Amino acid sequence: MDKPTSMHNQGFLSMFSTENRTYQPLLIFIAALVLSGCQTLQSVDRGLYNIAESVSEQDRVTGQRSLSLQSRAQQIQQGNSVVEQLIAKEKKDGRKLNQQLDKDQYWRMVQIFDRVHRISHLSDERWQPILIDRDSFNAFTTGGTYIVVHRGLMEQLTSDDEVAAVMAHEIAHTVANHVFEAQSLAQVTALANSGSAGRDGYRAAFTQKNEYEADRIGVLYSSLAGYDPLASSRIWKRQYQTEGNRRGLFFQSHPVNSDRERFNRVNGEKVQPYYTPGRINPNHAQLLQNNSLWSKQQQGSDNVGQGGGFSALAGTLLGAYVDHQQAKAGERQQQQQIRFVRYVQSQMKLVGETRPSADRWQLRFRYDGQIPLQGVTVGGQLSQGKDKAPIVMVAHVKQAIRQGEQFKAEFRHTALKSLSKPSDSIKLYLDDAVPQ
Ligand SMILES: [Zn+2]
Repeated sequence: MDKPTSMHNQGFLSMFSTENRTYQPLLIFIAALVLSGCQTLQSVDRGLYNIAESVSEQDRVTGQRSLSLQSRAQQIQQGNSVVEQLIAKEKKDGRKLNQQLDKDQYWRMVQIFDRVHRISHLSDERWQPILIDRDSFNAFTTGGTYIVVHRGLMEQLTSDDEVAAVMAHEIAHTVANHVFEAQSLAQVTALANSGSAGRDGYRAAFTQKNEYEADRIGVLYSSLAGYDPLASSRIWKRQYQTEGNRRGLFFQSHPVNSDRERFNRVNGEKVQPYYTPGRINPNHAQLLQNNSLWSKQQQGSDNVGQGGGFSALAGTLLGAYVDHQQAKAGERQQQQQIRFVRYVQSQMKLVGETRPSADRWQLRFRYDGQIPLQGVTVGGQLSQGKDKAPIVMVAHVKQAIRQGEQFKAEFRHTALKSLSKPSDSIKLYLDDAVPQ
């Protein structure tokens, strides 16, 4: 699989994002405004007026209330208008869409999508997947009834199970109300003038939580629709092997690849009993409510006028508070991990290099840090000029490393063939380090 690049805007929720992993609220806000034709701004106004009236909706998955300022009808209207404007722009720019773009891939996508959507929490709504002409490995949702899939993703995923994993994840973002939850949270924290909400790390942690949630729901969908629930963990394993974790570089809006592989493998194994290859599980409706990953809570006491209105609101605020605390904890954890990786990097010295063959580059490092390691991943970036994404290569070192010891890290990449002296053009960095 080639290195994925992505059109990743917050406000869109996407499974894959490797470009621009740091959360840049301003740019994203501008991008959202451009793409939604100021729809966003209007909805902010509307949101502020309605805030006292309606701030919650019942979570479709767990039955808990989550923060939302909009009804589902409003969400569909707003989410779809973004995609419809994107479609109009694609046509205006002379780009093909859907079956005109690639008949085989389009119908393959539709078939897989329909099977997953049919067993989802939003199966009553009419949904439509859209295939757009981009080479990159990406798919996203805007919270309405479309999901947008890049041609590059369909071409790179030859396994239908893996395509289903992506579809299931994107549907799950909308089911779990992530797009509008994030918008609502941004509005409410802006009103409350909360300091933490403006920090990149906090926002990154908030979106990470949503990625895990969408993964968890998506894995169940895959199993119920008759697609291999372990396909998702295979995607992340490949990502980890080819691009590492980038843990030491900056705050991640998405969970790091090895964490995500593990998370999806554990959940995939838990839902394995519901999976029969190629067949929709006949008990899918019940299993959506109660299964080995969650059980839905009853909301019987939520009757407005009998004190239920107050408890619903209190429940919502409590949910928002818990999300807020979790995001803060996630931010602290990431800060510690980044500090640790940077510490290890500062204690590593390059002491030698060899070229065993044209596509291999072997480096020898000495480690002087006091904390013993289980292993490290060394990354290398080869610039391709201004307009192109750099080539990323990683070397996984899976061995115990103690203070004063030397270890080897080897890159293998076809791009090395054209370089007589890789150290002149490849920028090295420590991708990840695991303490013992
Ligand atoms: Zn996602």
